[in-house]
Amino acid sequence: MDKPGPTNFIEQIISHDLEAKLTDRVVTRFPPEPNGYLHIGHAKSICLNFGLAEQFGGVCNLRFDDTNPDKESDEFVQAIIEDIRWLGFQWHGEVRFASDYFEQLYLWAVELITAGKAYVCELSPEQTREYRGTLTEPGKNSPYRDRAIDESVSLLKQMRDGGIEEGCMVLRAKIDMASPNMNMRDPVLYRVKLGGHHRTGNQWHIYPSYDFAHGQEDAIEGISHSICTLEFADHRPLYEWFIENLPVPSSPRQFEFGRLNLNYTVTSKRKLKQLVDEQHVDGWDDPRLPTLSGLRRRGVSPAAVRAFCDSLAVAKTDGMVDMAQFDHFIRQDLNENAPRAMCVLDPIKVTLTNWPDDEQVVLPAANHPNRDDMGERQLPFGQTLYIDRADFTEDTSLSRKKFKRLVLGDYVRLRGAYVIKADGAVHDDAGQVVEIMATVVPNTLGENPPAEMKPRGVIHWVAAHDCLSCDVQLYDRLFNDPEPDAGDKNFLESINPDSSVLISGCKGEASLMSAEPGTTYQFEREGYFCLDARHSNAEHVVFNRTISLRDNWANK
Ligand code: ATP
Ligand code: MG
Repeated sequence: MDKPGPTNFIEQIISHDLEAKLTDRVVTRFPPEPNGYLHIGHAKSICLNFGLAEQFGGVCNLRFDDTNPDKESDEFVQAIIEDIRWLGFQWHGEVRFASDYFEQLYLWAVELITAGKAYVCELSPEQTREYRGTLTEPGKNSPYRDRAIDESVSLLKQMRDGGIEEGCMVLRAKIDMASPNMNMRDPVLYRVKLGGHHRTGNQWHIYPSYDFAHGQEDAIEGISHSICTLEFADHRPLYEWFIENLPVPSSPRQFEFGRLNLNYTVTSKRKLKQLVDEQHVDGWDDPRLPTLSGLRRRGVSPAAVRAFCDSLAVAKTDGMVDMAQFDHFIRQDLNENAPRAMCVLDPIKVTLTNWPDDEQVVLPAANHPNRDDMGERQLPFGQTLYIDRADFTEDTSLSRKKFKRLVLGDYVRLRGAYVIKADGAVHDDAGQVVEIMATVVPNTLGENPPAEMKPRGVIHWVAAHDCLSCDVQLYDRLFNDPEPDAGDKNFLESINPDSSVLISGCKGEASLMSAEPGTTYQFEREGYFCLDARHSNAEHVVFNRTISLRDNWANK
């Protein structure tokens, strides 16, 4: 089998490194911070990191960046693990944590102080900002920069032991306050946090900064290619400075690629958290969110997420991807793999007057029109059925071309069953049709009727005597604005008020009684739907609409 050659710039770098023997094994990592749930942007990073390891016969680690305990929790750790498993990736060895390395990082911090390359600084946060300078003006040295080495070592220990208040002291690297790169202006290595940590409890009262932790952790784990998003490009000199100035066991290198931004949504954990915390949505797994748990609950398959991520360019610029592109992969996957079922969203009763009231049969129907491997299900059929209100009209003037459904006095085929003819309608006091009286055309099961009884079209239906009463939750895009958080826009203002519509009193075919979350069905003529795991129980069943059959946004 021909292996495709390297196509993106990271693949080219890795191929080169392997050929030039700069690396003997590719080791990547995915480093989430457990301060929220993963979203579709993270999926791009996961597919890239795990995908590269797989492609080049290497391994990929999962390492939690748990260095900022105030915002992190075990709930987020567990959710992230579940999401990565769901996507179908397996990390190398144990799940790793930055907190596994706290002791080593501390020892290295002491080494830096001892080498005259770090100091404890007592400037207030405001003073620190002032001393830092700006993009056009150099910073000023902190008055604590040249304090005695022993003093810094001892203060760091006091910080570690919990003897120092938050915000009073930090450990900083001594690099260059005049550097054009702000990240090199004596960056913070450690800050005091007294609130405890979800893994290490009260063992530590200082926590390393991302910059001081990340590269060294990569080095400890023997990461060959540390791949992150573009906003870290300016941090790379600092990443390299630590690797050069510390006795780390290996020399990883950092590469940056463009983040995935998707229109009509937000992909920032902070903003997602706000939507959840302020209850604009129904939890982190709300099916309208671009979180992986939301996509799962909505009925999107991991294969569709991966196919979408694999289709994205891995480039050195950030890009905006059209939601329609993601939708395309979701539909393609479901069209191929979703079992078919019938569900009537707005039921109206049909009585078949020439069908014996005690005769109930089952009709076999393929689960998928062109996949025999998916088998069959049984459709109960009897005297009373439901069809959708929108599939019937008494207006006999409508042409066959215009209305390919059931018209009074005319014929229609019931999907997988007989041709029927509408003979009459029963109305309530308000004039609304409440029941359709119809007759079955004999011998039309899998057979065409005589030419004069040609059906106008095919409609879906369910048998009243054996069906599932259920609710259906129709979802649409969460935002009306293609860029809800661009510039200084308040993304909460463009929440689409119609993004979640509950339809109750729907009737699903009997096979849906055994529906499980995780299986997405095509409800024929309606769209793709899956059981909602959160709101369904023995008495009450809710299906989520994963996606409509066609792109209704294209013409908006
Ligand atoms: P957010 O901005 O949503 O808070 P983050 O970058 O802080 O995201 P992390 O948990 O630190 O979230 O991210 C883990 C990894 O996923 C990092 O390597 C990060 O670069 C990558 N990542 C995060 N968002 C995206 C995105 N939109 N596209 C591609 N990769 C991303
Ligand atoms: Mg981050």
